[in-house]
Amino acid sequence: MTVTSTQVQLAARPVGDPKHSDFKITTVELPPVGSDEMLCRIIYQSLDPYMRGRMDDTKSYAAPVQIGDVMGAGTVAEVVESKNAQFRPGDIITGMFGWQTHVISNGVGIRKIDPALAPISTAIGILGMPGMTAYVGLLDIGEPKKGETVVVAAASGAVGSAVGQIAKIKGCRVIGVAGAAEKCTFVTEELGFDACLSHHSGNLDAELAALCPDGIDVYFENVGGKVFDAVFPLINPFARIPICGLISRYSHIGGFPGPNELPKLMRSILTNRLKIQGFIITERWSRFPDFEKDVSGWIQSGALKYREDFVDGLENAPEAFMGLLKGKNFGKLVVRVSDDPTA
Ligand code: NDP
Repeated sequence: MTVTSTQVQLAARPVGDPKHSDFKITTVELPPVGSDEMLCRIIYQSLDPYMRGRMDDTKSYAAPVQIGDVMGAGTVAEVVESKNAQFRPGDIITGMFGWQTHVISNGVGIRKIDPALAPISTAIGILGMPGMTAYVGLLDIGEPKKGETVVVAAASGAVGSAVGQIAKIKGCRVIGVAGAAEKCTFVTEELGFDACLSHHSGNLDAELAALCPDGIDVYFENVGGKVFDAVFPLINPFARIPICGLISRYSHIGGFPGPNELPKLMRSILTNRLKIQGFIITERWSRFPDFEKDVSGWIQSGALKYREDFVDGLENAPEAFMGLLKGKNFGKLVVRVSDDPTA
């Protein structure tokens, strides 16, 4: 029997914001399953901000997607047929299978998921890469201490929502920054942050200063731009700033308007003895066992909540991805590619 896979490929490199013509949806025939290989049906596919960077042909920590290649993504899948001794039909697995419906895999880099632990979609969300990013970025780089003030940007999203809740678990006072009013309400009322401000308010600097009378000890950077501008004057001596992401800049073209604030920034780093550290979560995977134990425990005890934003159908992935870069998602953005047999 011939198996086909519907794929979303990179058709063109975006100039500024991605558009529909930058993607091509096509169907290809898969080869037969070879020795040590397996056929996998993708159930859930992650959409993440980092994918915007991979669409550009610029020097970065990871190679760009080439024109005509399938867009890369973390996925949750079911093994349909297997000639690999490690995997059996019916196994639920996670791996980087990309924006497509089916794939032949040799099993390298693939992890089995226990559906009894949590809904399987969480393997690409709170119990996967974004959750790990929050856990490692906050605890290992942010080093929050009881009673400190932590500010986190993109606070209702996959990473930010977990950062703020873990900071609360560690006894911190937590302020979020998000877009829409309903996101801010969710962050305070559902997730238990102490406050949340909108970056659309037009008065973020003054509002943040009023909420942080004792300054800021940890700023978890997901966004850059005006949120960073509001935070930085409030930063305390010995503050820690994990640089996780800069989503407000990902589609930016050209330079930035002056004045050049770099000398002021450097002076503050020196005089305040700041720790500002970028990190890429794929280089810190040795922390996965601690992360999985702690975070699944916090989810089970109710100390940590998560929200997923599902989009049905692979054909809707480009539109959803473009929306992610504009704040249209509300929670971890996941494409439901096919039926979830565990739901
Ligand atoms: P989210 O689920 O938070 O979705 C992205 C959110 O960013 C949007 O919903 C929107 O929220 C916000 N946003 C978009 N554009 C802007 C803007 N111009 N100004 C302010 N906010 C904006 O995504 P993730 O939680 O998955 O990712 C958060 C950050 O973490 C990203 O920067 C991402 O690249 C980074 N990341 C880094 C990793 C690493 O290894 N370093 C790994 C994983 C993620 P709102 O409507 O609230 O503005």
